[in-house]
Amino acid sequence: MERTYVMVKPDGVARGLMGEVLSRIEKKGLKIVGMKFAVMEEAKAKEHYAEHAERPFFAGLVEFITSAPSLSLVVEGGDSIKIMRAINGATKPAEAAPGTIRGDFAVDTGRNLVHASDSPEAAEREIKIHFGDAALISYPRCDDACLYE
Ligand code: GDP
Ligand code: MG
Repeated sequence: MERTYVMVKPDGVARGLMGEVLSRIEKKGLKIVGMKFAVMEEAKAKEHYAEHAERPFFAGLVEFITSAPSLSLVVEGGDSIKIMRAINGATKPAEAAPGTIRGDFAVDTGRNLVHASDSPEAAEREIKIHFGDAALISYPRCDDACLYE
């Protein structure tokens, strides 16, 4: 089963949207196998967003991500990487379709509520940054048998 890293960013926590995000993931049929509620350390935020280090918004992004608590998740399921990107919606809320988290709840690119890994390599890297060797917990869901052919 594929795993991906998902984050409810500080704006999502502050707006009381953790439950909404968790609910969408669970209802879709994906399984939450890791969860951590914390204020992200600056070093981790910089590593997480390293690909954007040269972009003009990088400093503000790191400052915001480390300013208040966020919710880190590891989400498991078939095609979970692509599915979570689809659930989140396009990076720019103006381009995010209704029915996606960003399309339904966000207005500004710098406050787009959620993150999800964009490739298998990114997922592995990001899970390692945020969960290290912490145990991820696999468990049966009673709908497992209905979700897959
Ligand atoms: P994502 O993978 O959909 O989150 O998008 P990116 O990897 O392109 O960018 C990472 C994050 O940086 C986005 O989710 C935004 O929070 C932020 N970001 C990206 N582009 C911009 C921008 O032009 N301005 C600002 N303020 N933030 C941006
Ligand atoms: Mg990205």
